[in-house]
Amino acid sequence: MTPGLMQTTPLMISGILTYAAQAHGAREIVSRRIDEPVHRYDYAGLARRTAQLAHALRRLGVKAGDRVTSLAWNTHRHLELFYAVPGLGAVLHTANPRLFDEQIVYTVNHAQSGVLFYDRNFAALVERIRPQLTTVTTFVMLASDYETLIAGELETIDWPVFDENAGAFLCYTSGTTGDPKGVLYSHRAVVLHAMAGGLNSAFGFTAFDVVMPCSSLYHATAWGLPFSAPICGAKLVLPADRMDGASLHELIQGEGVTFTGGVPTIWTLYLDWLDKAGQRPDSLKRVVIGGSAVPRAMAEAFKRLYGVQTLQIWGMTETCPIGVVATPTPALAAQGEEAMDEALWTRQGRLQFGIELRVETEDGIEAPWDGETSGALLVRGPWVVRRYFKKEADAARADGWFDTGDIATLDANGFMRITDRQKDVIKSGGEWISSIDLENVAAGCPGVKIAAVVGVPHPKWEERPLLVIEAHEGSAVCKADVLAYLAPRIVKWWTPDDVVFAAVPLTATGKIDKKVLRETWKGHLVGV
Ligand code: ADP
Repeated sequence: MTPGLMQTTPLMISGILTYAAQAHGAREIVSRRIDEPVHRYDYAGLARRTAQLAHALRRLGVKAGDRVTSLAWNTHRHLELFYAVPGLGAVLHTANPRLFDEQIVYTVNHAQSGVLFYDRNFAALVERIRPQLTTVTTFVMLASDYETLIAGELETIDWPVFDENAGAFLCYTSGTTGDPKGVLYSHRAVVLHAMAGGLNSAFGFTAFDVVMPCSSLYHATAWGLPFSAPICGAKLVLPADRMDGASLHELIQGEGVTFTGGVPTIWTLYLDWLDKAGQRPDSLKRVVIGGSAVPRAMAEAFKRLYGVQTLQIWGMTETCPIGVVATPTPALAAQGEEAMDEALWTRQGRLQFGIELRVETEDGIEAPWDGETSGALLVRGPWVVRRYFKKEADAARADGWFDTGDIATLDANGFMRITDRQKDVIKSGGEWISSIDLENVAAGCPGVKIAAVVGVPHPKWEERPLLVIEAHEGSAVCKADVLAYLAPRIVKWWTPDDVVFAAVPLTATGKIDKKVLRETWKGHLVGV
């Protein structure tokens, strides 16, 4: 091998900020705050305040390698922590406030954070858990305390340069099974992932975009949007904790948002709000949706009613989180618009440069890329987890492949389709029923807000699907309506054995909580 003779400048998160302040210094960042008026500044302003925060963190004794926890919504102060903490070589643990108290305590203690920054509306939560936090010595409320902390500090800093493989963010999986597991993102992973996110195969940002992340900053760094947007010079709009339809619409209209993203539940509420209010999102062009499967009816409504393109994304905390994104290609366009929409709306997305995909059948053989053969989905690449934080053994195999726990197919165009999570598959009479596919169809039935399908024990068939519907407020949709809607759209043996109406529980990351549903309804079909 002849060594290359180019520079080996490490990929640093602080480099993104320095670049944005120089190249797009006057591009705006607009942020809602908790019980304070909207805050406005720009990338140059972000760089100044982040430098101040970094100096203040040093004053508090934060050193390279130390952990700092945030318990915060999508605001400019949280964004400043996103740059200042990793900028110093320390690690930002973004705690998920929707976890149970004991899980939050577990993650902060496991991270061994010395400082905890929290939003004003988590004050009661922090008071509750404070006696159990074994390592935190400094608590800072992201309000006037924070302003006092950074006031008077220098507005410039020479960011340290260190190994790009150093840890930057510590994100915990939601721990629906066992204790939450920590995924420690490196600078290298975050920067490469952010560059990939901006590509046209993914979010395709330009300097004219106005990006509003409605995925939480505490959940896998909001899909890297706080990094992809500045790399591309896009304006950033941060909605804080107000994800209701009216609040989102006000920001979309007022700030000219062109691109937004979040989990499906947010968009269910937003579409319902638009419909009832008779309003249109005028500036909005694209919405990226992921975290759970996007109901086809949702993508269709965005396009047909408002001309907004839906980009479905699949990913997980362990993949920083971008895995695949559903964006058009010439091969699909050649089939005509309808066929292209159909393909895009029924698949999680397509292969992106930087993350390899493999589907394995039960015998460990790679499945053909035929769009039919399903199996365990494995991923590999520079922003995929190798080992969980403080674990002895690697989570990925020796050859780098990491088993995602999802079941998927891959097709000849490089599109991936998730049929289920391994633990949610419904096994009926030796055959598999995809809960995701059934939910997707049921979600299109008028009046349905959330459709959840779980397998419940059945004396003859081992398991049969039960459909749990949460209806829109004021809707009179009933079991007969739902079954009549499903009948022409699914194969007969997939027909749920019962349809019940109840509130659908969601996990800390906004997914349908199937564990709770299975537990609640496990006796429902016994004796049928
Ligand atoms: P947690 O498991 O902690 O709730 P993650 O965000 O890491 O949080 O969850 C990742 C999982 O979410 C994936 O393994 C997959 O099962 C599911 N998921 C994410 N995006 C999609 C999608 N577009 N369609 C179907 N499932 C998805």
